[in-house]
Amino acid sequence: MFRAVSCTFCGKNIVPGTGLMYVKNDGTILYFCSSKCKKNMIKLRRDPAKLKWCKKTRKVYK
Ligand SMILES: [Zn+2]
Repeated sequence: MFRAVSCTFCGKNIVPGTGLMYVKNDGTILYFCSSKCKKNMIKLRRDPAKLKWCKKTRKVYK
């Protein structure tokens, strides 16, 4: 069974069977819709609120 999850980074809904799951060393589970989101979160440590292509941006600045 697959729970409906949304991308930890951009907030986009992840279609079951797609996306990536990332488990941090502290046990936190992160879900990403694409490797792009994973890269931005893990490698670049970017703030989703500052990125235009992220869903969360619109919510914050509305
Ligand atoms: Zn995403």
